[in-house]
Amino acid sequence: MSSYFELGISTDVIEFSEKIEEGLNSRFSAIDRLAERNQLKVIKAMQLARVSQACFVQTTGYGYDDIGREKLEQVYAEVFCAEDALVRPQITCGTHALALALMSNLRPGDELYSPVGKPYDTLEEVIGIRPSRGSLAEYGVTYRQTDLLPDGSFDYDRIKTAINEKTKLVTIQRSKGYQIRPSFSVQEIEELIAFIRKIKPEVIIMVDNCYGEFVEDREPIEAGADLAVGSLIKNPGGGLAPIGGYLVGKKECIENAAARLTSPGLGKEVGASLNVMRSFYQGLFLAPIVTAAALKTAIFAANLYERLGYPVLPFAEETRHDIIQAVTFGKEEGLIAFCEGIQAAAPVDSFVFPEPWDMPGYDDKVIMAAGAFHQGSSIELSADGPLRPPYTAYFQGGLTWPSGKFGIMMSLQKLIDKNLVSREKLC
Ligand SMILES: *Cc1c(COP(=O)(O)O)cnc(C)c1O
Repeated sequence: MSSYFELGISTDVIEFSEKIEEGLNSRFSAIDRLAERNQLKVIKAMQLARVSQACFVQTTGYGYDDIGREKLEQVYAEVFCAEDALVRPQITCGTHALALALMSNLRPGDELYSPVGKPYDTLEEVIGIRPSRGSLAEYGVTYRQTDLLPDGSFDYDRIKTAINEKTKLVTIQRSKGYQIRPSFSVQEIEELIAFIRKIKPEVIIMVDNCYGEFVEDREPIEAGADLAVGSLIKNPGGGLAPIGGYLVGKKECIENAAARLTSPGLGKEVGASLNVMRSFYQGLFLAPIVTAAALKTAIFAANLYERLGYPVLPFAEETRHDIIQAVTFGKEEGLIAFCEGIQAAAPVDSFVFPEPWDMPGYDDKVIMAAGAFHQGSSIELSADGPLRPPYTAYFQGGLTWPSGKFGIMMSLQKLIDKNLVSREKLC
């Protein structure tokens, strides 16, 4: 208790936090059991691929016969129950991985379709919803979407009429991203995929899996998706991968992506792994446990802020389908104070103040708090939010549960210090 005090947390915040945590014992042990199952899944995949020290040797230049790279892709395919995988440091981030999946599997005249409403902000420019250089729109790929119903469920009637002869690829975003809507469970995604397959069996179905990895027992390919895509500086990198993205899925879809990432004719055969393989393997090994820490942090925060009367999404009691937690502050000062707290509790850059800025790829100013070992890594405790009403902070991550807990406590401390939350509320 006194350790938190020494780090700047007041006694009332410490006591309030303990009370919240006590109520979460049974949920936390369920998360520990999930982590255990996912941990064994990863170990099994590594054993099957006969991962050895030789996998960690760095390759340079073209990277021919890079067994570390080849086995890692085998391991990812196994973990995600896919035919094939592309896991590369040359994929610079999640947006790049998604753009790669789309641009390599769509051809001029095809239509891309989202049955779950607007996609993640950065994809608007990839698709050309907001005109942008090099977008799919410039290449003659059209886009259509169907919004979710007001209660956040799928609008099956409209989905049925939206799918047409041009529809080539359906994109389903598992996590809410910067939106106020539910994230989808693998089960819900499975139902949606089954419905779409009945209308158009041959359509390629892709799931944007960012933030969803290891949050459940099953992953999207097991629910019938052809492709699942994500970032290695989120869940599957386990906090150790310094860069990278992955695609898992049907062999055909992965080969298309490889031909686009490197070059037609070269495909998966080139791409030196430089010196990142050990961190990719070890990060994947840790990912189930790290994801569990992030889940606990999100649930703790939801319970704490809901008790204080702030709208939270998911709600305190809800089952989780990703590691993102949204808390709505209603005012700019609240969002900023929250982010300052997350920053102040970080192991790295705890002394800096986050400032709202015009981030490339985003429409509004965004405030971001991150005291991370890897720049922009959002499996490490990090918060961000666009500066627009209703001033919602989205945060995620926490490499360890104690550090995540401390971050949330500090965020509350900042709100109290700025008189945005009154002390009486903590009793
Ligand atoms: C993070 C994220 C992306 C984009 O990933 P970046 O690494 O930030 O480019 C896309 N979709 C979702 C749902 C995400 O959470």
